[in-house]
Amino acid sequence: MIDLHTHTFFSDGELIPSELVCRAKYRGYTAIGLCDHVDFSNIDFVVPRIVKVSKYLTKYYKITVIPGAEITYVPPELISKAVSMARKLGARIVVVHGETTAEEVPPGTNHAGILSGADILAHPGKISAEEVCLAGKKNVFLEITSRKGHRDTNRHVATLAKRHNVKMVFDNDAHSLKNLLVEKDIRKILKLANLTWNDYLTMQSNARRLINSNVKT
Ligand SMILES: [Zn+2]
Ligand SMILES: [Zn+2]
Repeated sequence: MIDLHTHTFFSDGELIPSELVCRAKYRGYTAIGLCDHVDFSNIDFVVPRIVKVSKYLTKYYKITVIPGAEITYVPPELISKAVSMARKLGARIVVVHGETTAEEVPPGTNHAGILSGADILAHPGKISAEEVCLAGKKNVFLEITSRKGHRDTNRHVATLAKRHNVKMVFDNDAHSLKNLLVEKDIRKILKLANLTWNDYLTMQSNARRLINSNVKT
């Protein structure tokens, strides 16, 4: 299993990176993205530490650990600046915390996130058909999430993504041990989103492709 969007206690996750990665490994994960919440107050503190720990955890725990960041509640006008900064600091997966019905994320965040050069637009529950098409053109992956609250709009995101042939990834957005899901939990989330196990396998292979392309560059 691959989950490109998780949180450690460098933001609001419960676990230190080493424990999160180790626990994920023993639950059958083959790759994990550490994407803590960042804005301009903490990006230069968090990302280099995640980069450092990802290197040795990959080596010793034999799981692909991808250092990343989730650009969170940054004003839409500044999102692309934050994405560039995260990449310069070594993030290999950059996620933008999208507009969802579960929270008051600033309007325009989904649009700015798609144009920012990010890899994944996370839980973009309020996304429009036009924005889905734009994500396709810009090669931004749309996230299907198991996160409580955010997952309520998975069906909307998945329907539009399939209609316009835009790539999706499945993330747990894990903040704690209990969020590292196993197959039966994932099947429930897929059913609610009107997606199949085959769709899940496609999303996993999309995630693998994203890792491969970003690790090389
Ligand atoms: Zn988020
Ligand atoms: Zn998140």
